Amino acid sequence: MKDTATTVMERCELLGNISEEPGILVRPYGSQAMREANNIVSGWMRAAGMTTRQDEIGNLIGRYEGSGDRTLILGSHLDTVRDAGKYDGILGVMVALACIQQLHNRGEQLPFSIELVAFADEEGLRFGTTFLGSSAYAGAFDKSRLALEDQNGVTLSQAVRTFGGDPDALEGDGRGNGDLLGYCEVHMEQGPVLEQRDLPLGVVSAINGQSRVRVGFVGKAGHAGTVPMEGRQDALCAAAEFVLEVESAARAEPGAVATVGEISALPGAVNVIPGEARHSLDLRHPDDAARERLRDHLERRAAEIAASRGCEHEWQLRQETPAVPTDSDLSELLGRAVEESGATVRRLPSGAGHDAAQISALTPVAMLFVRCKEGISHNPAESVRSEDVGVAIDVMSRFLTLLAQGAGSHSETSQEASP
Ligand SMILES: [Zn+2]
Repeated sequence: MKDTATTVMERCELLGNISEEPGILVRPYGSQAMREANNIVSGWMRAAGMTTRQDEIGNLIGRYEGSGDRTLILGSHLDTVRDAGKYDGILGVMVALACIQQLHNRGEQLPFSIELVAFADEEGLRFGTTFLGSSAYAGAFDKSRLALEDQNGVTLSQAVRTFGGDPDALEGDGRGNGDLLGYCEVHMEQGPVLEQRDLPLGVVSAINGQSRVRVGFVGKAGHAGTVPMEGRQDALCAAAEFVLEVESAARAEPGAVATVGEISALPGAVNVIPGEARHSLDLRHPDDAARERLRDHLERRAAEIAASRGCEHEWQLRQETPAVPTDSDLSELLGRAVEESGATVRRLPSGAGHDAAQISALTPVAMLFVRCKEGISHNPAESVRSEDVGVAIDVMSRFLTLLAQGAGSHSETSQEASP
């Protein structure tokens, strides 16, 4: 019999060919390719003993009935970025499916049901807004988004309808959490940490919070040939000094990552001293207090650097999202499952956003990262090893068993605790 990791790898390969464009993988929300992927995966779900349905936004939900009245959610997403790899999102759905297939093959029923959700939109490729699928599932759909248009002028509202859902019903289509035990998502790491430590898997400690700032320096433009170096008010030089400050400050703060990814200088001519420089700043940390401390430090430094160069500075906080800690009980159980499988437990934060962040509004969440090659993601070169996928399946199966052993008592305490 073919081993389950091989089946998962083959399924990722197969889904990697379900695309809107020949030659590359691109599977946006609500597309024909997405419909086809949902059809294929729902066939696999039914073969694993699940009943399936599609909710209003288009999430594919498979349910494997258990003996008790509680439910564990497993899931990740089936949509992709443009020119995507085969594993981002898809791997998590396939690993969970493999675990349920094993239960079904053994005729085993757990004391709780499992809902496997293949989210319809995580990447936000088509409408520029992420987590359409998981936000709707979590009951947090923002209906102001329905008017958003894709490149062809099709609104999200129309896309929902074309995909078989009712846009007017989206707001009330949340899953509800009365029966939930929690949510666990397997995802490729999308970073190099596990590979560097030579570990197949990692338990996610938190999904990083994020600050996005628009930073500007305003000096004085002038003739590149006639204004002496002494006394120049070069805005780009101020920005350059600040960018290096961002790097050194982030290096000095454990867990922080900070990036200036976009910069412009005005007027932008070869023979003119830049009078204005504006750039982005993306700051992430698993701990909100540490991120805020770093943000405030950088704001102070921007002011100091500007002043020392006779420039003005601008600091515009554009967006902030808090960190999402994973649940300590579920993560400990996941860690025990990793240990039992013979692997070393490594906890690490997630630098990228995930569906789990949305689902955390509904129920406690945990995440398991799978090592990937060179940290490459959102790229057709994405690669994971079949052996690591095998360990992930083993760990998730052990996690289900551990949860089943504790589920009875957990259920009773929760019921006693509820009013
Ligand atoms: Zn993803």
